[in-house]
Amino acid sequence: VIVGILGGGQLGRMLALAGHPLGIGCVFLDPAADACASPLARSIRARWDDVDGLGELARQADVVTFEFENVPAASAELVATLTRLRPGARALAAGRDRLDEKRLFRRLGIATARFVAIDDAADLDRAGDELGFPYLVKSRTLGYDGKGQYRVDSAADVARIGAAIGSRPAIAEELVAFDRELSVIAARDEAGHVLVYPLSENRHRDGILRLSLSRPGDRADDAAQACIRSLASELDYVGVLALELFDRGGTLLANEFAPRVHNSGHWTIEGAQTSQFENHLRAVAGWPLGATAARGHAAMINLIGDAPRPPDVLRCGHARLHLYGKEPRPGRKIGHVTVTADSAGELAARLGELAFLLDPTDRPSLPV
Ligand code: AMP
Repeated sequence: VIVGILGGGQLGRMLALAGHPLGIGCVFLDPAADACASPLARSIRARWDDVDGLGELARQADVVTFEFENVPAASAELVATLTRLRPGARALAAGRDRLDEKRLFRRLGIATARFVAIDDAADLDRAGDELGFPYLVKSRTLGYDGKGQYRVDSAADVARIGAAIGSRPAIAEELVAFDRELSVIAARDEAGHVLVYPLSENRHRDGILRLSLSRPGDRADDAAQACIRSLASELDYVGVLALELFDRGGTLLANEFAPRVHNSGHWTIEGAQTSQFENHLRAVAGWPLGATAARGHAAMINLIGDAPRPPDVLRCGHARLHLYGKEPRPGRKIGHVTVTADSAGELAARLGELAFLLDPTDRPSLPV
């Protein structure tokens, strides 16, 4: 089976690595000359809307999927007319617009932060009245890792932030005083069977994921699982998807979902019976899914901006180092490190050996 992948970043690279033992080949389409998946498989260098490039991808592949969700809708629809696209163009479209996405969650009975649609400056004033200050404004499309996000602290900020947003459609959201940020990842096959991974607790800084922890028996597992099952069924989803949630006093509020494998699921490579990458390929190939149970406790540390020297990481014999072959650059995800353990205490000890990789704000509280 050859799987065509729109996007050739680290997620594509890890999909290719997962495909090898199963005899699943990959072919990538990416506009970047230095796409980090390209050393691993055939690659087509083309813009997202390049009709010839998309046609070539569809011709070379038995099924096409994506690892980058901001592929233009028209490109996804074109591919879907040429070959099988998994998940479908509708699943891709459903997560494209933050307002539609929040309305979808509400329709499915999945709680969210309170929100207000922002079409013009008057809506920003109304948002202050309805949500109270501070609140957040996000562009409805193309935002990720906190990009296109503004915090409105008082009515005095409204004019400045209104100017920054300009005519872009936006959404205002209540600023959630969450206890934890969580994500839940599921795989759904063509027959509609859904398997859900134990959830991840995620720590961010500057909007970028730094650390994910997966501990067996999290009290929020069942509620998170119910949310993602209903979302996956509603979208008639095929493949792996991720749902980001806030835990506020034990209540889960959905923030956004990603129609793809997810950074907070990298621990599943070593920490689960079947990785998110393998399950995504199995699902889109029309094959049965593998078990999603965790093998124990796991932690995943993102390497952002700069890479440590590999021996410094590997001195911890339980560390599993993944480097993506990307040039170091501030704010750029260039690799990750996973540690697994049989107990919370063992995980803490192993993370202690890797404390130099952790954000100072995370060090004292690990693992909680
Ligand atoms: P997003 O771009 O929606 O993924 O948001 C990036 C990060 O901003 C999240 O991981 C949260 O840390 C924070 N964030 C987003 N929305 C909210 C919200 N409504 N209240 C509090 N924090 C938020």
